[in-house]
Formats: sequence, C-alpha cells, structure tokens
Amino acid sequence: MSKKIIIIGAGIAGLTAGIFAQQNGFESIIYEKHFLSGGECTGWNREGFHIDGCIHWLLGTKKGTEIYDLWKNIGGLGENIKVYNSDIIVQVEYQNQEIILYRNIEKFKKELLSISPEDNEKIDEMCFYIKRFFGFEPPIEKPFDMMNLKELIKMGIKMKDIGKLMKKLNKISIKEYVEGFKNSGIKLALTSFVHDYYSASILFFSLAALMSGNGGFPEKGSLEFSKRIEKRYLELGGKIQFSSEGEEILIEKNTAKGIRLKNGDNVYADYIIPSCDINFLFKNLLNGKYIDKKIHNMFNNPEIYPINSCVYISYGIEKDLSNFPKNMVFEIEKTSFENKIIDSISLKNYSYEPNFAPLGSTVVIVYLSANYDWWKEKSKNYEEYNLEKKRISESTKKSIEKKFPELKNKIKVLDVATPLTYERFCNAYKGSWMSFGKTPRGKEFYHNGKIKGINNLFLAGQWLISSGGLPAAAMSGKWAIQRIINNRQRGL
Ligand SMILES: Cc1cc2nc3c(=O)[nH]c(=O)nc-3n(C[C@H](O)[C@H](O)[C@H](O)COP(=O)(O)OP(=O)(O)OC[C@H]3O[C@@H](n4cnc5c(N)ncnc54)[C@H](O)[C@@H]3O)c2cc1C
Repeated sequence: MSKKIIIIGAGIAGLTAGIFAQQNGFESIIYEKHFLSGGECTGWNREGFHIDGCIHWLLGTKKGTEIYDLWKNIGGLGENIKVYNSDIIVQVEYQNQEIILYRNIEKFKKELLSISPEDNEKIDEMCFYIKRFFGFEPPIEKPFDMMNLKELIKMGIKMKDIGKLMKKLNKISIKEYVEGFKNSGIKLALTSFVHDYYSASILFFSLAALMSGNGGFPEKGSLEFSKRIEKRYLELGGKIQFSSEGEEILIEKNTAKGIRLKNGDNVYADYIIPSCDINFLFKNLLNGKYIDKKIHNMFNNPEIYPINSCVYISYGIEKDLSNFPKNMVFEIEKTSFENKIIDSISLKNYSYEPNFAPLGSTVVIVYLSANYDWWKEKSKNYEEYNLEKKRISESTKKSIEKKFPELKNKIKVLDVATPLTYERFCNAYKGSWMSFGKTPRGKEFYHNGKIKGINNLFLAGQWLISSGGLPAAAMSGKWAIQRIINNRQRGL
C-alpha cells in the first residue's frame, strides 16, 4: 500500500512537493487555507483588468537549464508557453538624465559608456563579472545534505570558477559596489531593481539571469503559471482540500502523525510536509514548542537577514501603452510614505500581455518597499488604514499623470495591497514575499528541511533557501520528497 503524505499549503512549494510525491508512488493531499492554489504566486481581477501579483522575472525560463526542466516537469513552463523578455531591464530617469539598462550585454555596455565614459574601467569590470555569472545555476538535482563526498567534490569543481568571485562579491553590498561609479545616474539605475543593502553577488546573479534569457516573464502571468502546476498535480492524482487551514501538527512519541484543521477535524498520514510560512510553522503549527536556533536568530536580526514586503498599487489605464517603457523608475515630487519621504517610483507596464486588460487599455503597477510594522499600527484604526491606502494611491496616480500628461483622466486605481494583505492571504511573516535577503554580514542560509526531535516531518517552502523566490520554493518541494525517499531507503 502506498504511503500517505499530507502537505500544508498549495503554494509553489506545496504543489511541487505534491507532484513529486505522486510521481514517486505516494498518495498525497494538500490542505490549503485559501480557496485557490498558488500562494504568493497569484493574480486577481478588478474591474475588467487582471493584476499580476507576483512574477517580475522568473529564473529558469531558458531551455537547457536545470531549473527550466524542473518548471517543465511540474507544468509551469513548456514548449507551448511563451516567455517575454523585454529588451530593456529598466529605464531610469534621474535629474534630466535617462539611463537604460539593456538586456543585451553589448548594448548595456555601450549605453553606460555613452552616459559616462569616465566610468569605462568600472563598466568593463562589471560586464566581465556579469559574463562570468552567465550560466550559473543553483544546484537543484538533490539537496546538499543528501550528497555523498564524490557529489560534493563534483559540485565544488563545477562551482570553483564562479565561487571565488562570488565570495568576493558576497562581502560587499550593492551600494558599496556601485559607489565605485562616478556617474550618479548609473548608481541609481543599478540599485533600482535590487535592494542596495543586499550582497553585490545578487546584483550580478540577477543581471546575468536577465541578460542570458534565463529570467523572463511567462505568458498570462503568475496565476496561470500556478494553475498549470496545480493542473499537473491533479492530473497525477493529487488532491487539494481548499478553505482548510492547518492549525496544529499532531505529534506522538516524537513522530508527526497528522494535522488538526481549524474546523476541528484531525487528519492523519505517514509523512507531513508543512510548506507554508516558516514563522507560522514554528509559532502556530508547532505551538512554539520547537525552536530552530538558526532561524530564530535570523528573525531577530533583520538588519543582517532582512525580509521584504511591499505596497503594491495597480492602475487600469484607458490607453494602449505598448510604446511606453515596460519597467521604469522616475522622479516624483517628494511625497510622504509611511514615516519617510519618497522621491521616485518604479512602474511596471504590462502592455505586452493582452490577457491583462481590455483592448486599448493597459494595467500598470507601482511597487513600493514597505514597512509591515507601520501598516500594522495603522490598521488598528481601519478607517485610517484605508484612508492611507487611498491617499498613497491617489498621490502616485498624480505623479504618473504629471510625468505622462497624455494619461490625465485615463487612470483609475484598481487595488492597493499592503504587507497585511500578504499576511492575511498567505500567513506570510510580516507580509514578506521572499525569504531572508543576502547581505554582506549574513551567512548563506540553507536548511536541511528537518526539525530536531520530530520524525516524519519534512519542511518545504521558499524560507529554506536564501533568498527565497519561486525557484527556491519549487526546489524545496522536490527536495522534501527526495528526503522522504532517502529516509525510507535507509529504513528510517
Ligand atoms: C509582489 C511579489 C513579487 C514577487 N516577484 C517574484 C519574482 O519576480 N520572482 C520570484 O522568483 N519570486 C517572486 N516572488 C516570490 C514568490 O511569490 C514566492 O517566493 C513563492 O511564491 C513562495 O512560495 P511558497 O510555496 O514557498 O510559499 P507561499 O506562496 O506563501 O505558499 C504557502 C501556501 O500555504 C498556504 N497556507 C499558509 N498557512 C497555511 C495553513 N496553516 N494551512 C493551510 N494552508 C496554509 C497559503 O495560503 C499559501 O497558499 C514575488 C512575490 C510577491 C508577493
């Protein structure tokens, strides 16, 4: 008889774990608190528009890479699924200067040199580093904790070349790295799409993925991406029970036996895979009875291990913006946001995706890095919380109209999501949408998916691998099943 697995959460990690479970002869069921799958990889409809709630760029859109094969296996990507790779990564307008970061590395170099010839040495160095990151992929075949000595040595040899450079770039922040440029517009452009306090290696890794065609946007967006993965899981015989929130993991004699749902039902299985937020797991599902010192320490040191959340404002625009830049950052009149002042915004234009807006219209999104605690405090007075959402969305709308006068009276606010939205829908810690960010002071984080003192419990979810994101979520789901199989083979 096949062994049964309960998975908590139908995000990308949970669905991937489910697919690998089914492919390997287990019987699996996912309990999901929401009424649909996908978790943070989602989208929602408003007033005839579709708001994409997740993918800015997806690692693994290039055929021939290991991560592409993983997406293909689980149904997220495939031969018939188009991937958009716009020519421009981001267009930044700053003090009457326009800086375009092109996807093509030669064009990228030429553009930066034309803006700032005096930065030629730094530009050369940067392009050299980016090229060295081309083709670099996180090892996904199996978790490190399952590799034997030979496999670890093989991986070490594969990583040898890039490893040294990575070590060097891990030690400095993006902010420190770009300080080496003389041109302040270039500095701003290079820090406009990745947090500047992250390690510089993240900037190079991201640019290399984007420039090598391995970081695109799958057609129809995030929700459809999740739905395709859900479809694959269901076709393999997997089951999902929606609107079923796990409340507690049932443990008897140091072994996970099942879960208690919020409606009071107890359900049992041979293995449990929590694939939800890791803070929620320790605090709620395990009632604070088990402490993982490493994770505890990371949550308590947000300057070293930062987490990110956002205010996500979407607009429907009655105009086809195909001729407008797809990703841009521009200056605005100084505006108060939370307890700080912002003077620029980043705007994403989805005109390339016809499924997101009625013909002749476009959906655009403004993303603002946000402070969960500030919004939590605000939400104590619900009216004030809503007023603040309205104020910031209207003020940003005015900034867009000022920048593009032809859009006046054509923009309507569709929706404003805050960190509390992600907390409410996904149980996401402080509304975080990635795992712990990588900073020069922080150590590389990798969790072996087990909790000391509990047998038959195998974790999945983006939090297990810094800095999270969709590839980490999918890898962790696959690895949870590999670990279960490994345990069984070892008779544990
Ligand atoms: C605005 C935004 C932009 C992003 N951009 C990118 C990007 O460009 N590229 C990228 O790679 N990643 C991006 N991400 C991150 C990506 O969405 C996440 O890394 C990924 O979706 C996390 O997957 P997960 O399965 O680990 O967790 P989640 O998506 O959080 O899934 C957990 C699931 O568990 C459910 N759940 C929680 N608690 C319980 C419970 N007690 N019982 C039952 N179910 C429960 C939740 O409802 C959810 O469905 C972005 C995210 C956001 C929000």
